Amino acid sequence: MHLELLEVQRRVQARIPLPSFDLNQRVLEDHQADARPLLRFEDIPLDLTDLRLVVRQTADILRRYGALEDAEFQKAQAIGRDMELVSSVAAWYRATAERNVAAPVTAGAAGVSRSAGSTAASHADSGTIDQVLTLAMRPFLARCAEPVQQRPELSIWHHPCCPLCGGEPDFAVITPAAERHLICSRCGLQWNFEPLTCPYCRNSDRSRITSFATPDGQYRVYACDVCTRYLKTYDGRRAKRPVMPAVDNVATLPLDAAAMQRGYTS
Ligand SMILES: [Zn+2]
Ligand SMILES: [Zn+2]
Repeated sequence: MHLELLEVQRRVQARIPLPSFDLNQRVLEDHQADARPLLRFEDIPLDLTDLRLVVRQTADILRRYGALEDAEFQKAQAIGRDMELVSSVAAWYRATAERNVAAPVTAGAAGVSRSAGSTAASHADSGTIDQVLTLAMRPFLARCAEPVQQRPELSIWHHPCCPLCGGEPDFAVITPAAERHLICSRCGLQWNFEPLTCPYCRNSDRSRITSFATPDGQYRVYACDVCTRYLKTYDGRRAKRPVMPAVDNVATLPLDAAAMQRGYTS
């Protein structure tokens, strides 16, 4: 299933034009200041024909492998045909992109509790349709990540959400220089983040981070005992190849089982 999804995404991604948006030191400092992601929905080079195609093909594949029930499949197909597809996708994109944007300083404690509430709500709402949209939008967002990944200004960004699209990390890599780079679950961008701080709740108390590895030491799980979420990590320090998130995520399914057995969630 994962290979078929990758194939659909790869075919579409190859023909998406590169986005054009301004990126320099000042722009990144601006965005870093309030944790505002760089990419606005309007800047994504979205081709409606391709988007419809990839939504329908993604739904087909998921249903063939039993990952979508009939009712959800029909709903996904309907979204793929619907005139409102772009606004559905825009809502999906913005819900996450704007979630982490810092509340104005004057809002104080009220701003903090409001943003915590909306995080919980968006987590509960994220259903199967979100999963289809995440997969269908991946080629477009991954294309936008390509030029940004090369930019040295990325080192200015210190938030646990993605500098490009605001997504959460769902994988990480330890680089040969022993830095930890988080990998975005939406666009695949990699960015540097403190190695022992939980990116989901920012717990940095090492005694409350549980870590375990595969027998060969190639992959590691960092699980947080405060929010109980975990992050799988590829140890690239002695590896013969760079991290390949799509492949490594599937190769480490046994680690997910081990983490869940210990009471952690992804
Ligand atoms: Zn991203
Ligand atoms: Zn945590």
